[in-house]
Amino acid sequence: MNVYDSDKISSLLRKSLGLELVDDPKDATVLIVNTCSVRDKAQQKLYSELGRWRKFKETCPDAIIGVGGCVASQEGGDILARAPYVDVVFGPQTLHRLPGLIKKARENSKPEIDISFPEIEKFDSLPIEKTQKASVYVSIMEGCSKYCSFCVVPYTRGEEFSRSFEDVLKEIYLVARGGAKEVTLLGQNVNAYQSNNDEGKIVDFPALLHYVSAIPGIERIRYTTSHPIEFSQRLINVHKELPKLVKHVHLPVQSGSDRILRRMKRGYTSLEYKSIVRRLRSICPEMSISSDFIVGFPGETKEDFIDTMSLIEEIKFDQSFSFSYSSRPGTPAADLDDQVEDKVKQERLALLQSKITNFANHYSIAMVGNIEKILVTGESKKSSELLAGRTENNRVVNFAGEKALIGSMVNVRIEEVFPNSLGGSYLPSA
Ligand code: SAM
Repeated sequence: MNVYDSDKISSLLRKSLGLELVDDPKDATVLIVNTCSVRDKAQQKLYSELGRWRKFKETCPDAIIGVGGCVASQEGGDILARAPYVDVVFGPQTLHRLPGLIKKARENSKPEIDISFPEIEKFDSLPIEKTQKASVYVSIMEGCSKYCSFCVVPYTRGEEFSRSFEDVLKEIYLVARGGAKEVTLLGQNVNAYQSNNDEGKIVDFPALLHYVSAIPGIERIRYTTSHPIEFSQRLINVHKELPKLVKHVHLPVQSGSDRILRRMKRGYTSLEYKSIVRRLRSICPEMSISSDFIVGFPGETKEDFIDTMSLIEEIKFDQSFSFSYSSRPGTPAADLDDQVEDKVKQERLALLQSKITNFANHYSIAMVGNIEKILVTGESKKSSELLAGRTENNRVVNFAGEKALIGSMVNVRIEEVFPNSLGGSYLPSA
């Protein structure tokens, strides 16, 4: 979501103020840091980055320093108290007002803060950029109304708000016309999406997927992130109905212990989670499931952690975003007494990650010899001699091929497995 927002910030500043991105911050006249406050470290990183930018501001007093994103939304004026050389503070829902805030800060030579939540206005005011990218993100909803006891998102991004159906389709048509073949529908809980079509009929997430799949040029559809409580049978069926939808679902579970899930206010049990996965795999046995986990949530006992490890063993997750619980000020879980020791959290996290890495390796090894459809997104990070792209189950594949293949969907035979990628050979179509 932040990558998407950062792209929008740079297109807004290009369109409204004629600014261009520079490689070296020393060449900048406007420096923006877009922050995340899901975990504590991001907040600490903001203040160390601002510490470095302070020196820059001393040598270039006319430069504008802006802080956006969820830390800005949470800290507001406190940022100016800690870093008085900051000129603009804006939240995830006011990034479209950034050009105006910069102008005002320059004219009045005093800082501007706007961290309000005018979601409707934001979606209406963001520029839709023509893109030449093969794979693009399109935001379909914002915010979260689930109020999990550990999470700051409802307080920093506001409640769930769906973008209009017409705007979502317009953006996807436009990027598809520019050559995009893959679209990732983006939101905190995409399966909470709800809008109306021009006849006033409700378009929910399964219906939206059908419309997106009908857009000419779009060959592959992904979505992230979904939430288990809105993972309906209709959504499961869509995975059977739409061949363009990848055989991969990222579905955050957080814990395998029902006691902890209750304390987290997740709204489902581990059995209900397993039932979703079972039904997804009954229509597509090779469905790859990745997830988010939090270890060391307050009160998590050894038995609770064992329940999480058993769930991992049962589902055989393929990859995860897993984190130690990080106490977020203002969330209900931050006030719980029985916080887990850091050392215990680290040990549990290492065990969990090693188990999931083993499963991910196992899946990668099983892919050797397969012919996979790869969307070629550019040159490989490993070598400019190689191309890179992703498989349906979201693995990076590097292979030798002509640069002209960038942007197209090609067949590659998988031959090698590396810790974070696969290697293969391009198979020209007959
Ligand atoms: N749809 C997702 C869900 O089902 O929860 C929401 C994604 S959430 C914004 C991103 C991830 O950050 C969560 O799934 C969770 O694993 C992690 N996260 C959120 N708050 C956290 C906290 N206080 N400590 C550690 N990890 C946290």
